[in-house]
Formats: sequence, structure tokens, C-alpha cells
Amino acid sequence: MKSDIRVCSAWRDAHDRPVYTLSSTCPDCGADAENSAPAPFDPEDSHGKYRRALKRRSR
Ligand SMILES: [Zn+2]
Repeated sequence: MKSDIRVCSAWRDAHDRPVYTLSSTCPDCGADAENSAPAPFDPEDSHGKYRRALKRRSR
């Protein structure tokens, strides 16, 4: 079962990175917070991908 953690629905406009919260609104900008379960965007993933690619090449 997924946790109740939510993410600010307007974080792309209002913040540099996703703002997670347990309430139904963003504590920073007051926008609606939506369920983060679908994970529409993972800022860490692209970096991880890039890092893995570099690691492979440096062999
Ligand atoms: Zn926000």
C-alpha cells in the first residue's frame, strides 16, 4: 500500500524541485497537493541515468 505522501501540483512553477507534503495543500505556496503515487517526474532518475552511463564509459 502506498503512503499518503503528496506532491505540490504547482511545484514546476512555484519551486525548484517537488515539494512533498502529507497535507492536501502545499505548505509553501498553498497550491493543491496531489497524490505522488504515479510519480510523473523523478528529478533524480535522469541524474542516475547519466551517472550510470558515465560509470560505464570510464571503465
Ligand atoms: Zn507548492
